[in-house]
Amino acid sequence: MDVSIDKHSGFCWGVVRTVRIAEDQLAERSERNVFVLGHIIHNPSEIERLEGKGLKTITVDDFPSIAHSGAKVIIRAHGEPPETYRKAWHYGIEIVDATCPVVTKLQERVRKFWDQGFQVVIFGKKDHAEVLGVRGVVRDECVVIKSVEEALANVDLTQKTVLFSQTTMDRPTFLAVRDALKARIAELVVDTMEDIATEFHAKDTICGQVSGREQQLAHYAATNDVVIFVAGRASSNGKVLYNVAKAANPRTYFVESIAEIDPQWFDGARTVGISGATSTPQWVMEQVQEHIRGLVPLEQ
Ligand code: SF4
Repeated sequence: MDVSIDKHSGFCWGVVRTVRIAEDQLAERSERNVFVLGHIIHNPSEIERLEGKGLKTITVDDFPSIAHSGAKVIIRAHGEPPETYRKAWHYGIEIVDATCPVVTKLQERVRKFWDQGFQVVIFGKKDHAEVLGVRGVVRDECVVIKSVEEALANVDLTQKTVLFSQTTMDRPTFLAVRDALKARIAELVVDTMEDIATEFHAKDTICGQVSGREQQLAHYAATNDVVIFVAGRASSNGKVLYNVAKAANPRTYFVESIAEIDPQWFDGARTVGISGATSTPQWVMEQVQEHIRGLVPLEQ
């Protein structure tokens, strides 16, 4: 049985950058006072690895307990609302901003349209960290929707409107929302940010690191007998990509770690493909590969 790892899977460059920033900060400081706001990425194994090096996960509510202590607080790739920066300043806390530049651009662009009096509509998950950051930029004066039904129920169809997407949402639903609003709103802008960010697809603000992978992953999944998709359950991008793989190959299984792998999944399989989200570390996929090779006799 051949067990391979999808060569297009693994960290996107935004996550690589965030982890590198965290590792640099941890290497520089022996005082063990490097913190991150929320889990640094949606992957329990990688969180555990970085915590082993001294990284501590906190929330904004913990700021008073580390005030004026010389602590550094990393902002992860999802970004934060402006209020977080104000609070850090208030408590004398140094921020290390590892917000993905793609998310920073999205925040800037949303603010620009809001300043111009547009109704801002975000296709995304209301409580996802990236969306919380964007909501903060416009003082929560926006409509967050994740389906055509929600859009038609909550968007004011009489106003000039701009539509954005959270960077990790799925494109087919976004396009359905866009078409439904286009048919009903006289002045609708679907901002593509083409002029400022090559990471975005020409039709939306879904990150190219996510959407570019869908087609390739579907092909990879279809060409393997069984697919093991490895990601954290909290990863939006993980869910989107898993569904893409599952649609292409019904023998696709989602796991967070090797403990969840069932040997029966591989009955009669000649090829097993391992893939993951943009927040899945390469070393975790290698661990899964080694585990599966150990489970199944090489000669069948
Ligand atoms: S998926 Fe895209 S927006 Fe999100 S962290 Fe990676 S590069 Fe940045």
